[in-house]
Amino acid sequence: MKLQQLPKEIQLDILPSHKGNLQYDCLGCDKEFSIEELLYTCPSCGEVLMIVDKNFDALKETSPEKWRQILDYRKMLNIPAYKGIYRYHEFIGPMLPEKSIVYLGEGHTPIIEANHILQQKVGARFYFKNDGQNPSASFKDRGMASALSYIQYLIQGGFAKEVLSICASTGDTSAAAALYASYLKPHIKSAVLLPHGKVTPQQLSQPLGSGAAVYEIPGVFDDCMKVVEALSENYAVALLNSKNAWRILGQESYSYEIAQDFNYDMKNKVAIVPIGNAGNITAIMNGFMKFYEIGIITELPKIIGVQSKHANPVYQYYQEKDASKRKFESVIVKPSVAQAAMIGNPVSMPRVISLVKKYNYLSKKENVFIAEVAEQEIMDWKLLANQNGHIACTQGGESLAGLVVAKKNGFLTDSDVVVLDSTAHALKFSGFQELYFSETFPTEFEIQSKKELINRPKLVKPASVQKFPSAGHPLEGDDFKAFVEGVSEELASLLGLEKKSY
Ligand SMILES: *Cc1c(COP(=O)(O)O)cnc(C)c1O
Ligand SMILES: [Zn+2]
Repeated sequence: MKLQQLPKEIQLDILPSHKGNLQYDCLGCDKEFSIEELLYTCPSCGEVLMIVDKNFDALKETSPEKWRQILDYRKMLNIPAYKGIYRYHEFIGPMLPEKSIVYLGEGHTPIIEANHILQQKVGARFYFKNDGQNPSASFKDRGMASALSYIQYLIQGGFAKEVLSICASTGDTSAAAALYASYLKPHIKSAVLLPHGKVTPQQLSQPLGSGAAVYEIPGVFDDCMKVVEALSENYAVALLNSKNAWRILGQESYSYEIAQDFNYDMKNKVAIVPIGNAGNITAIMNGFMKFYEIGIITELPKIIGVQSKHANPVYQYYQEKDASKRKFESVIVKPSVAQAAMIGNPVSMPRVISLVKKYNYLSKKENVFIAEVAEQEIMDWKLLANQNGHIACTQGGESLAGLVVAKKNGFLTDSDVVVLDSTAHALKFSGFQELYFSETFPTEFEIQSKKELINRPKLVKPASVQKFPSAGHPLEGDDFKAFVEGVSEELASLLGLEKKSY
């Protein structure tokens, strides 16, 4: 729709004009730093940073009702820069001019209600938000669109020239980073570090396909992370891990979309999200709080973070109920099908600790919970979801398993409506499905295949048929007829089909 076709009273406000006053805020020493430089940690104390708009309160000059109108009408505009996460420009990167915004189709992923069979089995009303329907097939594109738009802004403003972007990854960060960096050639080049053998073949194919320099390092993700941290501290590279606070900003769009898709009514809503490096749960909490502070939503939804027993440092931390006694300790991870979340020392832990406190405070009650699930539950629930029309990845299965555990633990009420984050596309993790269906999971996963969930292809090659076609060698005449008849009869018998009576 054209701007001029919108109602007169909305035309003046529909394009973003708030520029904000963005700064890095240190979570350790409270110092502030200018965003004219790409910082990852506090130059003063080394702690992680959050990006804060010091002029955020100016957004309160527009009424909540008007904000909802602006955001809803903005949907109709055909301006690419505002079609993705920057529909929420004022909340994500208000200083970015339209020409700096990189849009590759990220965001606005569908929210799909589970069918009756699945809702009945779980005993709750719930939806999946399919973040696997992003361009590189995971939610990481949200954060990458933000980080790369910012880098493009630095380049256009003359603050940076040639940029080498670098990241450690459990698979999806590198896929997203390589995709966005390749779009911004030649000013940005991309290198990714992966734990050798710890990403799926599909995930490995993604940065390779985008033309990034791909390096495999022995060890697990936490080891790769230490290497890129050392690189970013000592060399001129742009770190694209979620340690980079620009990633967090972009990922806040997930919350804004949920709010908008439920017509800003957050009563009885629950967002369930898997936790790995804890960037996503940080962003989701922060996003909801920003909308709440402006009054765009009038309640904060419940947040439930989920971890596998094989990678559960955040869960362990919150096991101590006395907040003053809590002490963070990293864990040694074990193999997990929620491989993208297989992280023992989450970089965003200080952000989580700080934001959970703030979230509960604003909610005036305990409103953030952490659930722990078994590998078996992750895999069983993922398969069951997919057998009921979803495209959930293993981390999406982790969200669903988390819902079941949350219900058991009394974190939910009967009227709660749940949105599960399926963080990537099922296809990225088809190898785990194959291990399950072929009953070949290595023992350290602690997963037993359940017969009723297994699905295998069956070769149909009836003994009654003499000749079969093959590529380059088609059958003809009676041979072809015999083949079609023999195979279709065998299939009819296998499927229990009845012959038509006419
Ligand atoms: C990165 C990732 C996660 C974990 O998110 P964090 O922000 O690291 O907590 C979960 N699922 C998928 C598919 C991911 O790529
Ligand atoms: Zn500091």
